[in-house]
Amino acid sequence: MATRQHYFSQPDSVEQVKIRLFKQLAYYCLGLHCLLLVLFWYCDILILALVNIGSVIAWSLGIKLLHQNKSHLALRLFCMEVTLHSIFVCATLGMDYGFQYYLWTIASLILLDYQLKLKIASAMALSLIVTFALLFELFSNVDHRFLFSELAPFIHFINVLICAIPSIYTIGHIREVTFSNRYQLAQLAAKDPLTSLFNRRYAKELINNAQENCINTSQQLTIIMADIDHFKNINDKFGHDIGDDVLIEVALKINKYTQESDIAVRWGGEEFLLVLVNCDLHHAQERVECLRRDIAQHIFHNHELQVTMSFGIAQWYPALPFRIAVKLADDALYMSKAQGRNRTTSAPLKAV
Ligand code: GH3
Ligand code: MG
Ligand code: MG
Repeated sequence: MATRQHYFSQPDSVEQVKIRLFKQLAYYCLGLHCLLLVLFWYCDILILALVNIGSVIAWSLGIKLLHQNKSHLALRLFCMEVTLHSIFVCATLGMDYGFQYYLWTIASLILLDYQLKLKIASAMALSLIVTFALLFELFSNVDHRFLFSELAPFIHFINVLICAIPSIYTIGHIREVTFSNRYQLAQLAAKDPLTSLFNRRYAKELINNAQENCINTSQQLTIIMADIDHFKNINDKFGHDIGDDVLIEVALKINKYTQESDIAVRWGGEEFLLVLVNCDLHHAQERVECLRRDIAQHIFHNHELQVTMSFGIAQWYPALPFRIAVKLADDALYMSKAQGRNRTTSAPLKAV
């Protein structure tokens, strides 16, 4: 049986994606600080080795906060750690090793703390960039006894890369989530939430476009009104929820018999409108009959009930206003109902 969740995929939560990204970044940084700890220890720069022990503790604590979904606290902790760490390393080793660039990375990430107002987050980011600039003024000529000072250009290069990766990775992911959310919101605005067919408001725009296109290309259009027979009885007998499931299953059947270029709309409660593009009356009759028979033979909702539908078809010459074509199809549908339901009636061509 079709379920409602199946039709309604919620937009991805930016917060969830953010937490996932921060976790990846935090593990990345934790590993990095473990490496630096070993490096500084090996190079006998004990003070920086000790700073890295502090960093490892800070990143581990941040990961714990992320697992508790406290991403804003984790982000602030990371921000503090990176700032202090960069200042400390620059003060000790000078600027040649590129540890100052971490301030740029954290300045871009702090903007993702949605619990901060944009103004405050921007001010914090700006102060990190100012700190970055000040570091050059303060620590450009630091004397140090680093064992591998000839490796400075190499370490500088590596640091620039390491700093760039989190920014590019995070902003790239946030960009993807934004696009996908926008797409899903557009889908939600266009589709009926229950059946996933186009809703009436959005469909009118599509139908206008199809009409214009058919005028330009001299293609034929056919318009169909369809209505579930005695649907009120189904609701009364089986309940509204099962009524909803019937609507979902009917929509699935409609999708099965319509093509990409056709427009299938939930027009009202248990009423559907189909616009078949580039399809003449004869072919439309054949397709609708297949749909009608399939629905009538289908066992809905766990072998409990059968449902029939009535249809009205009208050839829509694109020069004819839409509302008149709908009226013709509606009248034909009325004839199907009057003649006993579970049937298809076509509006006489001469009437069109
Ligand atoms: P007919 O064969 O003449 O079309 O009879 P009918 O019972 O199908 O038509 P009627 O207009 O009397 O009843 C339509 C019913 O459809 C009434 C309304 O409660 C029900 N309905 C409308 N929208 C929904 C919906 O979203 N879910 C459910 N379960 N029922 C709905
Ligand atoms: Mg009905
Ligand atoms: Mg109706």
